[in-house]
Amino acid sequence: MDKYDVIIVGGGIIGASIAYHLATLTNRRVCLLERNQLTSGTTWHAAGLVAELRASANLTRLARYSGALYESLETAGEGLGFRRVGALTLAKNEPRAYELKKQAAMARHHKVECEWLATGEIAARFPHIETEDLVGGVYMPNDGQTNPVDTTVALARIAKANGADIVEQCNVTELVVARNKIKGVIANGERFDAEQVVLATGLWTRDLGLSVSADFPLYPAEHFYAVTEPIEATGPIVRIPDDGIYVKPDAGRLLIGSFEREAKPISTTRLPDEAFIELPFDLDHFLPYLEAGLNRIKGIQNLGIRTWFNGPESFTPDGRYMLGESPQVEQLFVAAGFNSIGIQSAGGVGKVMTEWLDKRRPPLDLWEVDVRRFYPFQNEDDYLVQRTAESLGLLYAMHWPYHQHESARGQQRSPLFEALQAQGACHGELAGWERPNWYAGPEQSPSYQYSYGRQNWFENARRECEAVRNDVALFDQSSFAKYRVTGLDACAYLNYLCTANVDVEPGQTVYCQWLNAEGGIEADVTVTRHDEQDYWVVSAAASVVRDLHWMHRHSRRYNVAIMDITQDWAVIGVMGPSARVRLQPYADVPLNDRDFPFATSQHIELAGSKVIATRLTYVGALGWELYIPRQNALAVYQTITQTPIQHAGYHAMDSLRIEKAYRHWGHDICDEDTPLEAGLGFTVDWRKSNTLGLAALTAQKKRGLQRRLILFQLADEQALMTHEEPIWSEGERVGTVTSSAYGYSVNASLAFGYVETDIGMTRKEILNKPYTIEIGDRHYEAIGHSRAVYDPDNEEIRC
Ligand SMILES: Cc1cc2nc3c(=O)[nH]c(=O)nc-3n(C[C@H](O)[C@H](O)[C@H](O)COP(=O)(O)OP(=O)(O)OC[C@H]3O[C@@H](n4cnc5c(N)ncnc54)[C@H](O)[C@@H]3O)c2cc1C
Repeated sequence: MDKYDVIIVGGGIIGASIAYHLATLTNRRVCLLERNQLTSGTTWHAAGLVAELRASANLTRLARYSGALYESLETAGEGLGFRRVGALTLAKNEPRAYELKKQAAMARHHKVECEWLATGEIAARFPHIETEDLVGGVYMPNDGQTNPVDTTVALARIAKANGADIVEQCNVTELVVARNKIKGVIANGERFDAEQVVLATGLWTRDLGLSVSADFPLYPAEHFYAVTEPIEATGPIVRIPDDGIYVKPDAGRLLIGSFEREAKPISTTRLPDEAFIELPFDLDHFLPYLEAGLNRIKGIQNLGIRTWFNGPESFTPDGRYMLGESPQVEQLFVAAGFNSIGIQSAGGVGKVMTEWLDKRRPPLDLWEVDVRRFYPFQNEDDYLVQRTAESLGLLYAMHWPYHQHESARGQQRSPLFEALQAQGACHGELAGWERPNWYAGPEQSPSYQYSYGRQNWFENARRECEAVRNDVALFDQSSFAKYRVTGLDACAYLNYLCTANVDVEPGQTVYCQWLNAEGGIEADVTVTRHDEQDYWVVSAAASVVRDLHWMHRHSRRYNVAIMDITQDWAVIGVMGPSARVRLQPYADVPLNDRDFPFATSQHIELAGSKVIATRLTYVGALGWELYIPRQNALAVYQTITQTPIQHAGYHAMDSLRIEKAYRHWGHDICDEDTPLEAGLGFTVDWRKSNTLGLAALTAQKKRGLQRRLILFQLADEQALMTHEEPIWSEGERVGTVTSSAYGYSVNASLAFGYVETDIGMTRKEILNKPYTIEIGDRHYEAIGHSRAVYDPDNEEIRC
């Protein structure tokens, strides 16, 4: 058999949609292999809800695309069973109402039709709904439902008509990999060669990945619904997240489904080895949800149940699905782990996967669903079982700002962990790291009390920030990603990746970005040259897998060795105007500005240990980041804290960095944003000739910009933002918030956001416009800043 361009393994709705898009949009030779029958995995038993709104702009785009695709195919007579029936999400308390109003504002920004209904309006428009305990709800008239089986079959049928091979009863038993690259698959004893393979194998994806040491962390959980006896049931889909349920009119019956607070993970080894799996129904587990559903619709309390259904669906550690190229096996792609939204996501996923396969990079910022966000520890059984029990219910729980998972914690700890707990640290989790987010006072419990207003750590973070601005504070920054690049070509290689020129004197530290071929920002790093052929790169804690993937992918032409040294070195940041005075007694070198200038690094002896001290700051202060061998870190910490020092956490760091207009990778800057749009053009050395992405950036510079990142300050001192809030100017929505934090130095909320502009508009003209930011159902006046709101001339850093 000839070689295929793309083999898709799995004939659920995701595989079918990828096949449909590849076949209709490209000339590639495509084959889909399904071991049983199309839809026989999870797809056949889905409830078929197709919502338009997700938590972010780009995932909303994908969901909306799905609805539009299904509608267009339905109109074309393909018989999907798609209808826009509308959906109503109800709030039983004020915080939920606030959350829904915020989502509604975001929805309108993305042109999703939606309206907030007060309880009386719900009662008048949908008299069959029990409204006594409600605060209100959001109505989305264009949300739809589809028949998952008919939709999948139609997508596969059209793919086939456009040249794709769709092969059922064809079990893939082996992925063929040579030198870390996929070559094809063995199915039914036969070899199928391909340039690229996509695993769209639902809850079986993790097992297939493990067979070639590729990590796809997902885990099945039992997922329940009940269908009532016939009843005259019309009206929209109703979601009641506070009760963890949805109710869907379903062909003359009602379907009541649940997202239980504590779910029931089930290993693939315990699933029957058959098509169209149905699991035993756990009535005790489901009963509270059933009752909530029956009580929500008037007059059905005693209605009988015709069908009790329990089927497996796969869930991921953070509740978001998983797309992209495996960081472990080249050209092996994944589209799985759909957390009960596979039907509504499939259309958009098929489209972006087609482009991702073509370019080997996502066509838009999809970091939140990129498989490279996961770490190998997240693919361990114990971790997944614990986390899945929690993550299913979180889909309907409140999406509190700064919310922390409770399960499977403590995966990665700094050597200072216990010592910092003794100081009152409230640890939060990022990439498995336990990081001190804030420090509780003596009478306070180091735990979160969540709200959409000022949370219980608000004043603690203020104290921490004030110490950094006025005196000194200590940060544990051990989670920062650290890589060492050595070898003959270390300089040339890093100059190929970095926007700045890193051919600097040993001891110099350079801040810059790595770009993709389109000029989008792949990483935001500092690079320190320690020796001619020895560099350290420091990057965001969350992007280790992604960065290493990027580095290895581009290292082939260079004689370099790349090491992840994150775990070997702890990092203590000592930051504030008194940092020098504080550290000098312990250091064996002078720390004055002449001997130890800003953006330099020295190997020194400090508090009895060899330490790499780098004079750099992410909080905008005089200070040093001390890189300490892990085994010495606690002793160094104990020595430098003999005299009490204010400890500061990541909430304070976030506030301090936004006051200084420092961008946050993954929020303010990502692979669809260029340094010019992000206001980071100053990192670029335009004279360089062999730098990835520089040609695209140069072309953009000539063309002019159509969007720019602006720092906003709210006039109202009390208002708080999170992210994705719409930004308005002169009656038009012009952008959304990418990240925000309260700035204690200016006593106001600060936020970054990209603003769409006309080509040729100057920054001054953009800033002179009036702005408001829409939070919930109110607009707040916002002032755009051209520079940092604190110490814009860096006088406090370079002193
Ligand atoms: C009770 C319930 C209700 C749901 N309701 C909704 C809803 O209302 N809206 C929504 O959007 N989503 C819903 N979902 C989720 C949705 O069903 C899934 O997210 C979606 O079906 C996943 O599709 P998939 O193609 O990834 O996986 P699957 O449908 O499981 O497809 C994977 C396919 O891969 C095949 N396969 C596996 N291994 C191999 C191999 N080695 N060789 C060849 N083939 C292989 C399997 O046989 C299977 O057909 C619901 C799920 C459940 C359980």
